[in-house]
Amino acid sequence: MYLRNGKIGIFDLSAGEPSEQEFSEELAKDDVSSIRVAERLAAEHGEDSLVLGTGLLTASFVPAACAGILWSRRGLVPILGHAGFELKMTGFDFIVVKGRAERPGYLWIRDGMMEFVESPWTSASDSWKRTDKIRSDQGDGKIQVLSTGPWGDAGKQAAQLVVDYWGGEDKVGMGSELGKRNLAAIAFRGMGEIELAEPEKHFEDSLLLIRDHVFRLGKSEGLSSFWKGADRDDFRKLLHRTVACYGCPYPCRSYLKVFEDPREMRMVEKEPGYLHYDVPALEKCFAYGLSASDATISLMKCARAGVEPASLLDGLLASGSKVGIKEVEAAAAKPSDIKNARAMNFESSFSDIEQYRSTLGLGVCPRYWSKIGFNFELLASYGQSAYGSPIGPA
Ligand code: SF4
Repeated sequence: MYLRNGKIGIFDLSAGEPSEQEFSEELAKDDVSSIRVAERLAAEHGEDSLVLGTGLLTASFVPAACAGILWSRRGLVPILGHAGFELKMTGFDFIVVKGRAERPGYLWIRDGMMEFVESPWTSASDSWKRTDKIRSDQGDGKIQVLSTGPWGDAGKQAAQLVVDYWGGEDKVGMGSELGKRNLAAIAFRGMGEIELAEPEKHFEDSLLLIRDHVFRLGKSEGLSSFWKGADRDDFRKLLHRTVACYGCPYPCRSYLKVFEDPREMRMVEKEPGYLHYDVPALEKCFAYGLSASDATISLMKCARAGVEPASLLDGLLASGSKVGIKEVEAAAAKPSDIKNARAMNFESSFSDIEQYRSTLGLGVCPRYWSKIGFNFELLASYGQSAYGSPIGPA
């Protein structure tokens, strides 16, 4: 099977046991979209399942083939950065998580294996500490960690899932889906490989496509190339570098430094800054009058606590509070029920929802492909040399 591992992992947290099922070629061909496969797996294993998955093209050479998904009844969360790529390289195409663990812990996935690691220390830790400790305990700084923080542990509607250290993808409260299962994090590292039907042709074809895109798009300025709101002086002055996800030639992620000189290339301070790509949260910060520096610190505090920033800011305003760093920090430190916590989704910032689902379901970044102009037939034709047969509609 090309472009797939052919394996689905199932972890029953209540029983503490993993099992596997085959992701057969027939089944995979029926459903090219990872979103539809996730829905089908949930129907098979229980509607309350949490399904982590990768698309057909995730980890291929087509531009921005970085996307995975996390699905639950609550909604759909894209998994970007390097997490989608690493997930595909664990040896599983999908992971189904069922039940609830007796004690807190994290799911540790690599080399075609899964285990539940108890972590009594997580109850007192924020999402950043979880990422640091899991990487240190497992001895690998490249482990990808999807974690929640105290807000997710407490099962709050406004909880946010954090990918490594950064928030932005989870706008549906997926953090609390982990919390209600006593799951402090899902960690994975991909050391495997996937087979491609015609690797050289796929590489050369994709290189041509990337060259065409780079020529058309020019040089990226980071987030401001995608969102005008980031094109303000105080934001630009703090820019340290732009950061791309796996395989993306036109990065939309801007790393801002706030506690040290943005021109300092070494990480001198322990918490120098934050990786911005969360447009709805930044929009809200700027609408409430925060400077780029205060917005950066606010998003950092929210990511650590595992709370969605736009919801937290709305909650502050609704309670009659001032909106500033001190207020954000104090509110983030106390998980609470925010009245009208915003139930929105990453996809709400896309005008074409069908296109959003098609790109994500295939395993490519919706933001990148909406920028360059999504054309399913064209993308499928470039993916065919890797897949070995025509790619059907996603
Ligand atoms: S456009 Fe942004 S989110 Fe999408 S792949 Fe590129 S860097 Fe990642």
